[in-house]
Amino acid sequence: MPDPRGGIRWVLPRKANYWKPEQADPFQQVEFLGFIQSLLEHGEFVSTYKFALLQALADISLESDPEVDGTLRIPLSSIAEKFIAYYWTQAAPFHLANGDQTVLRQNTGTKNAAIVGKVVEMRKKHSTLYSAKSSQKEWRSLVSTVSSQIKLMPLFKLQTVGRKRLESLFTNEVVDGGIVLQKGVQDCFRRFYGIVIRLCRREWLDMVRRLNKATIGAPLDLAEFLFGCERNQWPGIRPVLRELQGGKCFYCQKSILSGQEELDHFIPWSLYPNDLAHNFVLACRRCNGAKSDDLAESEALDRWIERNKAHGIRIKTEAASIGLPADANASARVAAWAYERVD
Ligand SMILES: [Zn+2]
Repeated sequence: MPDPRGGIRWVLPRKANYWKPEQADPFQQVEFLGFIQSLLEHGEFVSTYKFALLQALADISLESDPEVDGTLRIPLSSIAEKFIAYYWTQAAPFHLANGDQTVLRQNTGTKNAAIVGKVVEMRKKHSTLYSAKSSQKEWRSLVSTVSSQIKLMPLFKLQTVGRKRLESLFTNEVVDGGIVLQKGVQDCFRRFYGIVIRLCRREWLDMVRRLNKATIGAPLDLAEFLFGCERNQWPGIRPVLRELQGGKCFYCQKSILSGQEELDHFIPWSLYPNDLAHNFVLACRRCNGAKSDDLAESEALDRWIERNKAHGIRIKTEAASIGLPADANASARVAAWAYERVD
């Protein structure tokens, strides 16, 4: 249900009439999990596109307002933007032990996957994803090229298991430039987001490892290179947070002693493993350690909502200058999803 004011809805389910997607019944939930499992185990994967597509569907399901009828229409361009963001990180030069650099292979062919090639070209012209997006003409052209590629492959191959062409997640056709998730599928992605993302990233990691074994050996930090990690520091976002918090800990509200300041994912990384600027707060070491992977209590949640309402644009501007992704809408939806789980 779109926000009638047209703005970002920084409110959470128990405080507003938050629209939940039509719930999947238990039978559909089990079927969904079984399907994801068979897709990851038996799909014939020649590139990592299928993982990117699955992750895109999961992320978009979490970050989007549900439709009233329980389906979810997803424009191909939204999927393409997700692909570009995932491969933007993964197409960065990977440093080898011998001092050389390489772009990691993402498919089995003789040339690297086409989308990766396009992203590499864009990376040569723009140092950050934000800068690439700001160059609107180039960005639109890249999104359009990537959309066409996704339509060609992997969109309709994703649901092919063995010889069966299924429509468990979405109908196998593009209508008005988008696909439609079946009723209840968005709800399933929201319910099982953690399982889907973990499985998907594990298989993605394994495949990249296999494809690049000859060149890179088995580096320990490959997963962090591909998907980022909880400890990402983003030092450039600290000054604005410090200023907005007046040098105090976001949780206990006491001044943070020198050397005790930590950057914290407000919605924990264990629930939503993506860096989004509006999700960051500064905490003292004690509070950060105590909070760990839990959700913050409601007072802190209120403060977080208020802060993002009042200073969301400022945070976005600072994030843009350092290449940290920011999407206020997505952060609001993800928070609603995370707190809905514990309500
Ligand atoms: Zn504290």
